[in-house]
Amino acid sequence: MTQDEVRKYLEYYQDLGVKAIYRRELPLGQANIEPAAPALEKIPESAISPKSTVVLSLAPDHDNLQKISEDIGDCKRCRLHEARNRIVFGSGNAQAKLVFVGEGPGADEDEQGLPFVGRAGQLLTQMIDGTASKEGIPIRRSDVYICNVVKCRPPENRTPQPDEMEICGEFLFRQLQAIRPKAICALGSTAAKALLGTKEGVMRLRGKWQKWRDIPVMVTYHPSYLLRPYNQNAKKEAWDDLKKVLHYVYD
Ligand code: URA
Repeated sequence: MTQDEVRKYLEYYQDLGVKAIYRRELPLGQANIEPAAPALEKIPESAISPKSTVVLSLAPDHDNLQKISEDIGDCKRCRLHEARNRIVFGSGNAQAKLVFVGEGPGADEDEQGLPFVGRAGQLLTQMIDGTASKEGIPIRRSDVYICNVVKCRPPENRTPQPDEMEICGEFLFRQLQAIRPKAICALGSTAAKALLGTKEGVMRLRGKWQKWRDIPVMVTYHPSYLLRPYNQNAKKEAWDDLKKVLHYVYD
């Protein structure tokens, strides 16, 4: 990245209302570079090696869910804040070995401030608790962590738009990085797209391990999709995917 590109990158996040950024530990071989500069301070050209790009991140070194939630604050970074009642940050075990990522809150979630509490959420609970119990795996929904790509309900439950996913995605990535689960289960195509950056559909992605950074990701059908009467065949596949994930994580 050139100095100019770095400046534009920082200005982009500044325009979004991000007040601070953090620099990850430097890659090996760059240990002689000065420690992280305060946000938006001019970064010297000498610190930007053309061979190994310094990765700027929005996450501090010792990030945690509370800090992320504080950084989200009363978020107005995208248009989704206009119609929301509550920000739905996520819920469950902050040290979970498994994280489920959905698309975004629906009406019930927006009202309660909790993810997957409506009809799709009840099905997700049944899927987790039922599969775990059938497979002899001693976990329940409260042992995993559940969150969404976007934290505010899209109007009429529409699919989140790319800029909304990008803005909120930074917080999702921080959540995943802070929890560092053994695996992630992406529920539906929006979660798959956010994590894997692919336009490939769920039908093609599901059942095979993918990766987000170095964490294995299993894509499966979104529970809302499984609730539609004409998609009953997909149910068995979703149960198979979940079985695979649970055994990988908890065996
Ligand atoms: N659908 C989602 O994707 N997330 C929720 O939290 C609820 C429904």
